[in-house]
Amino acid sequence: MKLYPRLILDALEKVRYPGTGKNIVEMGMIEDDMRIEDNKVSFSILFEKPNDPFLKSLIKAAETAILTYVDSGIDIKGNIHAKIKEQKPAAPKKLLPQVKNILAIASGKGGVGKSTVAANLAVALAQSGYKVGLLDADIYGPSIPKMFGEEDARPCMEMIEGKDWIVPVEKYGVKLLSIGFFVDKENALIWRGTMASNALKQLITDVYWGELDYFLVDLPPGTSDIPLTLVQTLTVNGVLIVTTPQQVALADVRKGINMFTREKVNVQIVGLVENMAWFTPAELPENKYYLFGKDGGKKLAEELHIPFLGQIPIVQSICEGGDHGKPVALDESTLTGLAFHQLAQKLVLLNADN
Ligand code: ADP
Repeated sequence: MKLYPRLILDALEKVRYPGTGKNIVEMGMIEDDMRIEDNKVSFSILFEKPNDPFLKSLIKAAETAILTYVDSGIDIKGNIHAKIKEQKPAAPKKLLPQVKNILAIASGKGGVGKSTVAANLAVALAQSGYKVGLLDADIYGPSIPKMFGEEDARPCMEMIEGKDWIVPVEKYGVKLLSIGFFVDKENALIWRGTMASNALKQLITDVYWGELDYFLVDLPPGTSDIPLTLVQTLTVNGVLIVTTPQQVALADVRKGINMFTREKVNVQIVGLVENMAWFTPAELPENKYYLFGKDGGKKLAEELHIPFLGQIPIVQSICEGGDHGKPVALDESTLTGLAFHQLAQKLVLLNADN
């Protein structure tokens, strides 16, 4: 008898996969590797899992069907192989599944205005209609509560969907949480290493952040393992670097950028902001005094081929806004407010391009 695949498949259509009411051919279980040489037939049956309870009995049933419905002289015993579907490794569970963009704000050294930029950026984004969260992870100097006038706030716990969550404080349309809400300033410095990393992790996983367009994380300055662990745990979309134009600050920024971009970490630098680019007295807004040198941040961004997002001058109102809990970005009609809104717009555009 001349054998050909259709004959074999017709016989296999008599074999049903238990419980489905379907035969193993219509279920797509017969692999495309059938070989027929004289009266020897071989092929594979595809199973989802290696421990399929019907694996052996289905192979046996397929053999019997071929011998019964095609020809009892076919050499089939032991020639039907079980093939297991390749299991794709499960994607790692995303920490904040309802958050569209996670951006970390970093600096090479402290005092360059990282938190000021983070706070104003958060406010500017919220005023542009985005849902924004801001996590102050700067354990060495948590200043976000003060900048939002929320130093005495204590976030509460709430039972949501059967689990206890920390609920962020909300101000100016921004959901806020700071390590400063949980520790006294005096104690913040002793929170180093693993302890700090664990506490920060909790502020991400145990907080009901909900749906967010932008989740900004104000990182601790420098190149300790805390900012590094954070960007890795959070799988951030990118890091925004804040620097002053000063040479010493720039040297630290290079180290910071290296830390984020080196092979194993490989986090994208979304851009660089030059803060304290020049001093402008309120009464002489046209005058610019380059106290820390001119265009240092801009030149560094060009040299390292990272997007340059703009320059923010030293203006008394920015400092006062921070001290009084009213970020200047609340008022877009002022020059300083506008500067932060333009920064936010650039970030949104850059994000949309990527
Ligand atoms: P960092 O987070 O880098 O340590 P901060 O944002 O806390 O720095 O800023 C340090 C100080 O400098 C704060 O008192 C802040 O108000 C002030 N400051 C930051 N940027 C400016 C600016 N562009 N003009 C005036 N003061 C500023």
